[in-house]
Amino acid sequence: MIRLENIEKSFGKTQVLKGIFLEVQKGDIVSILGPSGSGKTTMLRCINFLDKATSGMVTIDQLSVDAKTATKKDILDLRKKTAMVFQNYNLFQHKTVLENIMEGPIIVQKREAKEVKAQALELLKKVGLSHKADAYPSALSGGQQQRVGIARALAMNPQVILFDEPTSALDPELVGEVLDVMRKIAREGITMIIVTHEMNFAREVSNQVVFMDGGIVVESGTPSEIFTKPKHERTRQFLQRLT
Ligand code: ADP
Repeated sequence: MIRLENIEKSFGKTQVLKGIFLEVQKGDIVSILGPSGSGKTTMLRCINFLDKATSGMVTIDQLSVDAKTATKKDILDLRKKTAMVFQNYNLFQHKTVLENIMEGPIIVQKREAKEVKAQALELLKKVGLSHKADAYPSALSGGQQQRVGIARALAMNPQVILFDEPTSALDPELVGEVLDVMRKIAREGITMIIVTHEMNFAREVSNQVVFMDGGIVVESGTPSEIFTKPKHERTRQFLQRLT
């Protein structure tokens, strides 16, 4: 359902992505692992053109967009198929939790407020925050804010949710509640691509693990292929350092 073909990305003279190939099937839970600076976040942001690749092709759900010739409309159409969960939640501080979740569906998707509100309340229930519907983000813990971030992403009914290190800004005791919500939505069959340092989570929840280093995909495979018999020395070294 998603294909990245030969994605390259430079910031000024620095080439960060050096030809990324990636294939994701519908319903896949893909974890992207790799050392800091290897290009994981940039790769994720190139999927929805938050960063525009220097060259290469992104395909989501039969819409193929060539980074070199992409029009504004191509990019908007592609973005409609995705939603993103950010490391720092990126909630609107002056809007309530419920308003945060309803904003995208109403403003971007032009959906009807009543229907959107019903869905938003359902999603709040799903992430365990029904009692916070009218609270402002500043009154929530980091874990709660990130659960709102996930509900907000789900409200867009995306083909794929892109998670950019969703737990790395959280205090350790708040990581579990966010991972629990992610586990729950993974079981519902939504396609997820997750940049993460949570090795246990990657191992337990994903069906594809991608190891990146130096702006390329070094190898990808099932969790047991990558964690128990990695083919490449670089993968082995990375995993060893963590244990
Ligand atoms: P990772 O997610 O694996 O830690 P990133 O994709 O965040 O890696 O970053 C890869 C490299 O690209 C880093 O060297 C980073 O400094 C650089 N980089 C990322 N975003 C930008 C940007 N907007 N401008 C300049 N350099 C950037």
